[in-house]
Amino acid sequence: MSFSSTIREALLREPAERECCLRAELAALTQALGSLGFRGGGQFSVTYQTDQIPLARRVFVLLKEGLGLSPQLQIVKHARFGGKKTCVLTVEGADAPKLLSEMDMMEAGEDGQLTMRRTSPRPALNRQCCKKAYMRGAFLGIGSMTSPEKSYHMEFTCPEEGMAQQIERLLEKADIPARHQTRRGKTVVYLKSADAIADALTLMGANQARMELENVRIRKQMRGQIARMSNCDEHNDNRMMDASLAQIRAITFVRVEYGLYPLPPALREVAEARLQNPDATLEQLGQLLDPPIGKSAVNARMRRLMSIARELEQKLAAQADEKGSARFVTPAR
Ligand SMILES: [Zn+2]
Repeated sequence: MSFSSTIREALLREPAERECCLRAELAALTQALGSLGFRGGGQFSVTYQTDQIPLARRVFVLLKEGLGLSPQLQIVKHARFGGKKTCVLTVEGADAPKLLSEMDMMEAGEDGQLTMRRTSPRPALNRQCCKKAYMRGAFLGIGSMTSPEKSYHMEFTCPEEGMAQQIERLLEKADIPARHQTRRGKTVVYLKSADAIADALTLMGANQARMELENVRIRKQMRGQIARMSNCDEHNDNRMMDASLAQIRAITFVRVEYGLYPLPPALREVAEARLQNPDATLEQLGQLLDPPIGKSAVNARMRRLMSIARELEQKLAAQADEKGSARFVTPAR
């Protein structure tokens, strides 16, 4: 499975419970996937097209629960392209103007013709929960990410510049550096550094994917270090690397899910020293602390960190089970 699909699956499992967030996510998905159709007599419709059935289901639920609309869902099977399916969701009748005005996306073009404005000042996206929901919708609709094993690259291919500006504003407010370029008439907002991508994943609530990214990063970093090291007993070296890798994973997990700041200072300093020195022995780590401590003391603190990570993992797994039965979850299958 591609890295994009991993993120997508995780995002689809996220419940959107508050009304403000239902609307924020719907705004992003409407800007990303929606298009206007005219039917004569001043009537128009808004359609969403996607080849991902779980995503179509999610938009359906958002339209229904967020705005009380009754969209029509149609699945078109193509005779060509190996029977590929496209989902078409249509909002029509009185629902269509209601959708656009609730999303504040209705606008008259220069010729008086109705158009869809894709920079939505409403919902205002002031709350953290809504920013997360908007970014989630944006990624689900138009986001993609290269496998971090290959390179660090995440992008949002926006149908219009307004949406690109909205995404860039949200990223900028979260101190995440992004750039944009025009490609085939579309504005592409992209992130190029591992740090920026990690923070963007956190912003949209894809913590699992962030963990995976951190793991790949550590593996890459360690491979480089192992390659650089010479004159060492290879066997011992690998064992030490395995232990260090497990420690870094546990510490990274705690950092992503809980933060290192709430930890007692004694644990925090060992955790930070390990992250900065993946190839140091426990003895060397002890020497880096202020005041320095012995190998067995470092070992005891490290064991405590590992058990905190395990407890946290169990707690989150239990919460995820509960979430699985929550009211609004669109199953991916
Ligand atoms: Zn909200």
